[in-house]
Amino acid sequence: MNYQKTSIPLIEARRLPEERILRLTWQDGLVMSFPYTLLQGYCPCAHCRGHVASEIVYLPPKKEISSIELAPVGNYALSIACVGGCNSGIYSFDFLREIGRREGLDQGSLPS
Ligand SMILES: [Zn+2]
Repeated sequence: MNYQKTSIPLIEARRLPEERILRLTWQDGLVMSFPYTLLQGYCPCAHCRGHVASEIVYLPPKKEISSIELAPVGNYALSIACVGGCNSGIYSFDFLREIGRREGLDQGSLPS
């Protein structure tokens, strides 16, 4: 996929279950809050992306995502399983920053 490779480590991934938000904090102080449903829409797995694998495309989920499961993948990515949605997405930290920037999710955090 075509996006900036910053390789800035993620230092915290916190789920806010009531808001259905995943809040991520990077080492440089950037904070982004991702609605679960938005994460599903950007799921980077081959099954979700199909023939548009070379571009970042938002595919609206068929239904709201009410919870997610997280697991670290090495020191470069998060595995995010959307309950009721896709459970095979591996989201690199750079990819998460990129979609957060596209969606304007970094507003209100520290200057970058
Ligand atoms: Zn997927």
